[in-house]
Amino acid sequence: MTAHDHDHDHDHHDHRHGHDHDHEASELSETELRVRALQTILVEKGYADQAALDAIVETYETKIGPHIGARIVARAWTDPAFKQALLSDATKAAAPFGYKGDVGDHLVAVENTPDRHNVVVCTLCSCYPWDVLGLPPVWYKSFAYRSRVVKEPRAVLGEFGVSVPEKAEVRVWDSTAEVRYMVVPARPSGTEGWSEDRLAQLVTRDSMIGTGTPTSPAERCA
Ligand code: FE
Repeated sequence: MTAHDHDHDHDHHDHRHGHDHDHEASELSETELRVRALQTILVEKGYADQAALDAIVETYETKIGPHIGARIVARAWTDPAFKQALLSDATKAAAPFGYKGDVGDHLVAVENTPDRHNVVVCTLCSCYPWDVLGLPPVWYKSFAYRSRVVKEPRAVLGEFGVSVPEKAEVRVWDSTAEVRYMVVPARPSGTEGWSEDRLAQLVTRDSMIGTGTPTSPAERCA
């Protein structure tokens, strides 16, 4: 069982944000109860090892997150050769940034330009570039997002507070289990001469999904 496999739930009825790890058993959602039951059976039958499952969950909760993607974007902003390498083969270019130098699935990086804004979805379920962005946000898996972003991307982006100029194209990328996408947002102006570390702090998770923009340097300095 991979971290991705047990997350193909559509918990759009669940409006809690973030993850509450220590809630009581009585507060477990139906999905959590199903996962727990499945896990118990797999461990009892000897198909899965409890320690191995715990290690996978722990890794995705604490070690892997959008800070990895943010470092990749910051490098692309400061190193044109790296950006070219990233856009032509993201799996290869991003590997050294990944946890244990691994980004697993086939990763494709798409760059926002004045002419094109990119946004990522998995219309089928919840495929997401876990290795570089960590756990997906709850809305990413919601039916509303998955169905609407394809039909009316500008309206959905507007609800996220992203307005794309009329003359620019909005390109929606549909992820699959095989191919995962990450967006390279445009570097904010006013960041000339900034270090890679400092730039990485501007790169939000949503800006790498395409439903957000990087934090503006003014906001950061305030
Ligand atoms: Fe999926």
